[in-house]
Parts: sequence; structure tokens; C-alpha cells
Amino acid sequence: MEKNEKEKKEMSIEDLPGVGDATAEKLRESGYDDIMTIAVASPKDLAEISGIAEGAAIKIINAARKYADVGNFETGEEILNKRKEIKKLTTGSNNLDNLLGGGLETQSITEFFGEFGSGKTQIMHQLAVNATMPPDKKGFDSDVLIIDTENTFRPERIVQMARAKDLDPDQTLERIHVARAYNSHHQILLAEKAADMAKEYKIKLLIVDSLTSHFRSEYVGRGSLAERQQLLNRHMHDLLKFGTIYNAVIAVTNQVSANPAVFFGDPMNPIGGNIVGHTATFRIYLRKAKAGKRIARLIDSPYLPEGETVITITESGISDGEK
Ligand code: ADP
Ligand code: MG
Repeated sequence: MEKNEKEKKEMSIEDLPGVGDATAEKLRESGYDDIMTIAVASPKDLAEISGIAEGAAIKIINAARKYADVGNFETGEEILNKRKEIKKLTTGSNNLDNLLGGGLETQSITEFFGEFGSGKTQIMHQLAVNATMPPDKKGFDSDVLIIDTENTFRPERIVQMARAKDLDPDQTLERIHVARAYNSHHQILLAEKAADMAKEYKIKLLIVDSLTSHFRSEYVGRGSLAERQQLLNRHMHDLLKFGTIYNAVIAVTNQVSANPAVFFGDPMNPIGGNIVGHTATFRIYLRKAKAGKRIARLIDSPYLPEGETVITITESGISDGEK
């Protein structure tokens, strides 16, 4: 497996028959920068992006499929065994934990989406603190990685939340590793680097707050939508891979944009649309309510019923609030 990975890395897209320097450059610009991405591309997209005929694109894709490591079939038993290792991380709110069937699951991506100020970043801070807690407190006793794209990480907030859980604030801060991502490419690179960190530290929680803000601001206009979705798709698969390999929780945030035409009955539409929606296993929609309260709604879970619940944000962090 390891060896395969290395061999795959050594092969570049120029090694594919029919891909010269000019075509390679166009492909790279659009995010088709490795064999795997080309192997799973559609001939039409590839032809459009690189300006070659569809027949030529098919040949390139077929060649890429020969070399790509597309993975193996696993038996149901193997998958069940892997799923037995799944652990759950508390959100700090029993209500929200129950809605999620016990907490945020490892080996999956959980997406929190909602308007500005709906509490996404607060929840990320709380998850970071909680992951450092021992398992008997529904934590992982682990370190945490945060990719911060909006410069909203606040150590002062971690200190408040740690105190509220009777944790040593300094020790908690020491276990939370934050990287600021300056643009979408930087964000993608940091996600790839997460694996290096996981070799050095026990990392059971990887946060990307926000998953989509750079993509949204950098890829504007219809012409760049396909490229944006392509990059976002790969980024999410990198994250999911990390979660699976290290049995870690992946928590991401996503903004909503007002788009009354698209989202069923609700004017708020999560950025990244189908790509993000299909890769995130759990999606929570957050809405503001009165007095520090937020309504959290679980949307399209593979095996949990849809439903909503109320959480509270106070100086101490996320909780159910008083009954
Ligand atoms: P988002 O990331 O969804 O844009 P945030 O997670 O930053 O939103 O939420 C900001 C909100 O969280 C604030 O408007 C406030 O209601 C609440 N909040 C932030 N810090 C505190 C605090 N120390 N005490 C109580 N509420 C807070
Ligand atoms: Mg935020």
C-alpha cells in the first residue's frame, strides 16, 4: 500500500500518452494535477478544460485509469471491523450529541453550516477543547489540528471553555495546533500536511473553519465553478482519508448564501452544493434563536432520523442551557 502510494506520486500527468506540456499546464491550472484526478474525470470536462478533442480525452483518461491506484474491494466483515473502531466525540450539549447518535463520529466528515454568527466557530472551539478530555468525559485524550481560514481562532475562548470543564487552560492550549490558511491552495496543502502532524502527535480531531470561504471568494463567476468544485471535492476526500486512516473526527464549517431558487423551501443555501453535501456524512444546519440559543438541525444522515434540537452558547461554551 505504502509502496503503491509512492509509485503513484512519482508518476506525473506528463507521463500520460497524449499529454504534452501545454495540455499538462491547462490541466494543472484546473486542478487536474495527478493521475487519480484524471482517472475519475469525465471526458467532456477534460476536453473542455484542456482544449483537446473528446476522443483524445478518453484515451488520456483510460491511460490514467491503468496507472491510478483506485483502491480495493473490502468485504462487509472488514468494513464492519473498521466501523467497530468508530469513536464519538461530545459537542458539550447532550441534546446535540443525542441528535447525532452519541456525538461526532470518527471516520466521517461532519459539516456545520449556517449564517454568520450562527455559532459554527464557537462549536469548533468547544470540540477542540472536548477532544483533549479523557474518554470517560466523552473526549479522545488527543491533540487537535485546526485549519483556520478566517482568522477567527481565539485562544482566549479556549481558556474560558477549558476552565468551565475544570481543565488546565495552558495544557489544553498546548494540545491545539492551529494553522492559518491564506488561500485555498494553502488550505489544501495544510490538509495534506496534517498526516505529518499525525505521525508526531495523537490527532483525533481535524477542524477546517471555514471549509469554503476561500473557495467562495477566489472562484467567482460561472466559468470557474467547475474548477472550484473539483478542488473542493479533492480537498474533502483528503480530509476523509485522514479521518479514516487515523480514526479521527473531521469537523468543517460552511457558510450559507441566499439562493432562494436552489435550496428546498429554505432561502439559505450551503456553499459548495452537492460536492460538500455528498462527501460530508453528517450535516448540521444552525439557526440563531433567542438569548444565546441556537437551533441545530440534522440533515440527510445515512442512518439517523432527521430532527432538530436546541443548544446554548455562553461564556462557558456549548451546552444544553438550563432546563
Ligand atoms: P459563525 O462562526 O457561525 O459565524 P460564531 O461561532 O463566531 O459564528 O458565533 C458568534 C456568536 O457566538 C456571537 O454572536 C455570540 O452570540 C456567541 N459568543 C461568542 N463568544 C461568546 C461568549 N464569550 N459568551 C457568550 N456568547 C458568545
Ligand atoms: Mg466562524
